[in-house]
Amino acid sequence: MKIRSAETLVTSPGRNFVTLRITTDDGITGLGDATLNGRELAVASYLRDHVVPLLIDRDAARIEDTWQYLYRGAYWRRGPVTMAAIAAVDTALWDIKAKAAGMPLYQLLGGASRTGALAYGHASGRDVPELLDSVRAHLAKGYRAIRIQTGIPGLDSVYGVAASSAAGGERYDYEPARRSTTAVNRPVEEVWDTRAYLRHLPNVFEAVRAEFGPELPLLHDGHHRMTPIQAAKLGKALEPYDLFWLEDATPGEDQAALRLIRQHTTTPLAIGEVFNSVYDYTTLLGERLIDYVRSAVTHTGGVTPMRKLLDFAAVYGIRSGLHGPTDISPVGMAAALHLDMAVHNFGIQEYMQHAAQTLEVFRTSYTFTDGLLHPSDTPGIGVTYDDDVAATFPYEPAYLPVNRLKDGTVHDW
Ligand SMILES: [Mg+2]
Repeated sequence: MKIRSAETLVTSPGRNFVTLRITTDDGITGLGDATLNGRELAVASYLRDHVVPLLIDRDAARIEDTWQYLYRGAYWRRGPVTMAAIAAVDTALWDIKAKAAGMPLYQLLGGASRTGALAYGHASGRDVPELLDSVRAHLAKGYRAIRIQTGIPGLDSVYGVAASSAAGGERYDYEPARRSTTAVNRPVEEVWDTRAYLRHLPNVFEAVRAEFGPELPLLHDGHHRMTPIQAAKLGKALEPYDLFWLEDATPGEDQAALRLIRQHTTTPLAIGEVFNSVYDYTTLLGERLIDYVRSAVTHTGGVTPMRKLLDFAAVYGIRSGLHGPTDISPVGMAAALHLDMAVHNFGIQEYMQHAAQTLEVFRTSYTFTDGLLHPSDTPGIGVTYDDDVAATFPYEPAYLPVNRLKDGTVHDW
């Protein structure tokens, strides 16, 4: 079963996606997600110019060997562009292997450890009443766990909350609509005030718990914006509200920051969506400084290294909470779901739900019922790609926002 062709596919059905499609000499195709929000074409070039020529005539069954060949063989290791490209190859080869076996991928990974994967959605509002409406809307959609983000008094726009926020709640962060209308495309800029945020957030959780009671699992994302001592203070302040997790409290590069937060609070911690290697986690896992691994299959080199990372986390009793915003394509989402089903140390899966346009290009077979996601039993990962529809959505330059403090200093977004 040799690789006959590998195509790098770029489309923008609501937002940009990069997909690798590998076809074998016996006609089996596999898909892998290579989307890196705001830097999509760098990964497309990495694949098209440097990886695809190496894949032709390779044995499609040799997934581990191909992964090591691309990782070690490039000499330059890690980094989001490289690891997204390798992830696409790895995921596509797992899709092919599972199709060849006539099984859904989770069966090859050891079979189901649960009946479905608990998913959380994103509730948000410019103020508390609007947020409470958004939580109600998510409960009505069947969500059994909900992330809470809200506007901050005095700030015009806040991560996770759209300026035109309405009760629906999803698709607010990593917004595809943030496209410049100027001749030169640049990211929009937002203004941030951490002290105003720290003052406001406990009141928000007080209101949500008062309205919805103690049972509903609630999550919150700090989006890498706090210093360690600020995050420690927030974790302590939120303890009465029993969070499922506090995510991305401090900038992701600094593993030791989590040590300081951990010393001060029992609020569970999650981090890792901007990581791309197991080496980003060695301190965090070995010292049990976090409770959930937030990486994405798409940005961590694929199914192969993600399985190893989650098994490493399991040694320390740390669970999964894989990244699942809408800039992970349905292919990357489906790959995550197969891992969610198979690993013992599953925790929760982020699930924002893709736009209808996106799902016209990527035909999915996974389902969401009673708060749980289910990968289908379709052989492979269960996603197909419609070239004709994709061709109607050409690439459009788009960037994530940039954040500044009130005095103009660039801050983490
Ligand atoms: Mg996050």
